Amino acid sequence: MSAFDYDLFVIGAGSGGVRAARIAAGYGAKVAVAEEFRIGGTCVIRGCVPKKLYVYASRFREDFEDAAGFGWSVPPASFDWKTLVAAKEKEITRLSGIYAANLDKAGVEMIAARATLEGAHSVRLSTGKTVTARVILVATGGAPAMYPAIPGVELAISSNEVFDLETFPKRLMVVGGGYIAVEFASVFARLGSQVTQVFRAENVLRGFDEDLRVALADAMGHAGVALKPGLLPTRIERAGGALRVSLSDGSTCDVDQVLIATGRAPHTKGLGLEAAGVGLRQNGAIIVDERSQTNVPSIYAVGDVTDRINLTPVAIREGHAFADTVFGGKEVIVDHRHVPSAVFTTPEIGTVGLSEEDARREYEVVDIYKSTFRPMKATLSGRAEKMLMKIVVCGHTDKVLGVHILGHESGEMAQLLAIPIRMGATKADFDATMALHPTAAEELVTMRTRTARHERGKA
Ligand code: NDP
Repeated sequence: MSAFDYDLFVIGAGSGGVRAARIAAGYGAKVAVAEEFRIGGTCVIRGCVPKKLYVYASRFREDFEDAAGFGWSVPPASFDWKTLVAAKEKEITRLSGIYAANLDKAGVEMIAARATLEGAHSVRLSTGKTVTARVILVATGGAPAMYPAIPGVELAISSNEVFDLETFPKRLMVVGGGYIAVEFASVFARLGSQVTQVFRAENVLRGFDEDLRVALADAMGHAGVALKPGLLPTRIERAGGALRVSLSDGSTCDVDQVLIATGRAPHTKGLGLEAAGVGLRQNGAIIVDERSQTNVPSIYAVGDVTDRINLTPVAIREGHAFADTVFGGKEVIVDHRHVPSAVFTTPEIGTVGLSEEDARREYEVVDIYKSTFRPMKATLSGRAEKMLMKIVVCGHTDKVLGVHILGHESGEMAQLLAIPIRMGATKADFDATMALHPTAAEELVTMRTRTARHERGKA
């Protein structure tokens, strides 16, 4: 008989928590998961999944327009926001149900309650009950951080609310220049909003390869997004039926909604972590080692709450590795290198490995291969559209350090490129690979002319 109610108690039924619970239960552990909202977490309920559905919705606008170049006559198209919201709701409810069914099948007990830590082995539920567990896993994810803290910020929405707005915003202001900001600016502009995007930096997507940032900003401008670098709101107030946003340059802008997308913060407030003695970083993230263990040996944490790489597949890997290591008797350490990522703007970004800027900081000699071309589809559609591909190579070893793409299906390409890059492929390996014609991706194996060589210390 165990001295505890459970072998594992998981707080949070998002991507990382659900995976850890299922795998641990598969190893025979007695597992419970507490979730105060809906099973599935940010990714399923108000993140990646609904976002991608809205991205698909937004892309029909250009498909209808482009069809004319291929001989189709398409009657004027119209878009109904409520239909999209309802269809999205149905799909995420289905997915949430699958997550719950899988937990159930694995024998995991689901508890619809908020859970707070009371000690190294004990958790208090909002139902009033206290339970004990040999191991506790915190997988509570993150939540939107609403910066800057200006008067009237409570009138703005975050990515939590944007999916379910009662009324489609004809005029939308997006604050921020990161993943969430550019994705929603791109989606809403195509669905018919007049979008203004303000952000503090000189360009969107800080940290991404510079060429991609410039090309994306250009494409967003063409799609009708008014990009305003170096500008932030200073006040939001109601003005009739609209919201009046005062901006840092002294101007004002009337819009229907203000979407604040200035980052996400680890969801650790009020969880009782301090009481349990768990070490936190200044931003509230739980400090863990490579096995996802905190300084309190019985408490572990995975996913966004640890603020390592805040992406769903990373949280899933961390949750799985935790369960393998702690309950499966095999030590698995997650490799956080070579993580591919995509930004689902239109055109989208797919990227894996080092940007040119990071490679030049880390390596003595860096070679750049770059190609900008018009995708085949754009020849008949007449769309002014450019695809950008860039390969960053170590000048000494010929190893491919990074690949960065802007254009159709670049997310799909980045996923596959992550395999050779992780395996240490060289530029010569890329060159030796037969092209598949006609595709855009063939450009990745036919780029022969070096665009630039950067040697440290040489201009
Ligand atoms: P990001 O960290 O990507 O971007 C935050 C943005 O807010 C940046 O433009 C940043 O500016 C700005 N900002 C930060 N603090 C302030 C402040 N105090 N005042 C004004 N502006 C500020 O965060 P997101 O919210 O877009 O996304 C959160 C995370 O979610 C991402 O990091 C990513 O891991 C994940 N995500 C991934 C997606 C995908 O894979 N496709 C999609 C959506 C989210 P600056 O550039 O100047 O620092």
